[in-house]
Amino acid sequence: MIRSLYRKYHKIRPYYFSVNTSLRKFISCCTKNTNKYLKNGTEKMGSQNRQRVDSVFRLRIADIIRKKRDGESLSIEEIEFFVEGVVNRSIQDAQLGAMLMAMYIRSLDSEETTYLTRAMTHSGEVLKWPAEWKGRIVDKHSTGGVGDKVSLILAPALAACGMKVPMVSGRGLSHTGGTLDKLEAIPGFTVSQSHANMIKILENVGCCIVGQTSNLVPADKIMYATRDVTSTTENIGLITSSIISKKVAESLDALVLDVKIGKGAFLKNEKDARELAQRMVAAGNGSGVQTVALLTDMNSPIGKKIGNAFEVAESIECLHGNGPNDLTDLVTRLGGQLLYKINAAESMDAAINMIASTLNDGRALAKFRAMIVAQGVQEEIADKLCRKGADVFEVLPKAKYTYEIQCAKSGHIHSIDSMNCAIVTGKLGAGRAKAGEVINFAVGIHLKKHIGDAIEKDEVAMVVHHDEDGIFPEEFAGLLKDAFVIGDRPVTHATRVLDVIT
Ligand code: URA
Repeated sequence: MIRSLYRKYHKIRPYYFSVNTSLRKFISCCTKNTNKYLKNGTEKMGSQNRQRVDSVFRLRIADIIRKKRDGESLSIEEIEFFVEGVVNRSIQDAQLGAMLMAMYIRSLDSEETTYLTRAMTHSGEVLKWPAEWKGRIVDKHSTGGVGDKVSLILAPALAACGMKVPMVSGRGLSHTGGTLDKLEAIPGFTVSQSHANMIKILENVGCCIVGQTSNLVPADKIMYATRDVTSTTENIGLITSSIISKKVAESLDALVLDVKIGKGAFLKNEKDARELAQRMVAAGNGSGVQTVALLTDMNSPIGKKIGNAFEVAESIECLHGNGPNDLTDLVTRLGGQLLYKINAAESMDAAINMIASTLNDGRALAKFRAMIVAQGVQEEIADKLCRKGADVFEVLPKAKYTYEIQCAKSGHIHSIDSMNCAIVTGKLGAGRAKAGEVINFAVGIHLKKHIGDAIEKDEVAMVVHHDEDGIFPEEFAGLLKDAFVIGDRPVTHATRVLDVIT
């Protein structure tokens, strides 16, 4: 039956483009039925026999590209065939580029995104954990923001609540620094850890923050590199499968996503961010990971410190219970969502309080200290960083010069343009213009005032720490001055959380 349907399909396929609409409908119906039979058949037969089915029906990458190019939806088999071809390199670079462009232009629907996510997840190693951790393995992902140091605080706070947090994180590209870059500002911190080491650290500490191992989602490594050079990065389906496949390969029970919106975010408007959040939540849930997303405001910088070493310093302040309100609020709400999702707390308020209490009583700080030691930092350095009242810049890299930005008029700070801050810190060396560039951990911005604060004309609004010999570039000073919007009325800095998508 399957063979006969498929033969019919192949016989009429050459005429596909010259015939009328009703024949197209017939072909589409054949395809759907064939896919259904193939799916049922392959599920019964298992993956070894699926290869035989593939070869019997001779899936051809050129046909799959054409199908996507013409706006049709791809079946699970076609997507699996494509991902297998990417990893075993049977697909040529030109074909990969063409396929990604077809996916970019025609988009992936929700089903295709879930299929792609699953196929990418299983393209390499899927991390395995001891059975007794079941139900407590959690992680968080952020789409990236300015001053976003949440992971450095949240991972140890969750560990202090009894969770296991195998956080596989990334490096920064463009204006935002990555979590791994920030942690590497701590002398001795090693992001590269084997799976066996991760298990040991999670057993003893409860959290680790590491780089992607070479065999975790290899399909994403290849596809991401090609997306980068073919202008096919900004696509909801491709972003979703890239992010979620890596998280699902961590074998998580629950995942919280921080999807940022605004000037300093990768997505500037709420519609796109909401769509990405919804798609990621569907793909995560569809892959067996309980997933929730928070839409959060990224117009102004998070906290008062931007730049790698500065963000480590502010994370430690927050772990001492002295973090800026907006940062502490974001950490507790993201963590609260996770704890509530896995039924570790009876209510959302109780879950938020669980996280907050680990910041106030030093348990999260103790986990942070234990984590950095387990990842290569000497005890003495960890003490110097984590001791109450310590000057963390005895240990963290410090820039040579400072430059003060004064406020142009008196009033109340209504907003601070996070993108302007990011552009300047990036140009001073805190970020990368292209992969592999060396980062200057020491440079950054310390905001002396934040949204809602009253400020006088000529009062210092921020201090820039930099290594520019000679005069501080005028265009940087101009961008930073322009970042401040000062109004007459007082304003309150409400929570950054705009919505929760479940
Ligand atoms: N981060 C990822 O890992 N993948 C994307 O596609 C975008 C951001």
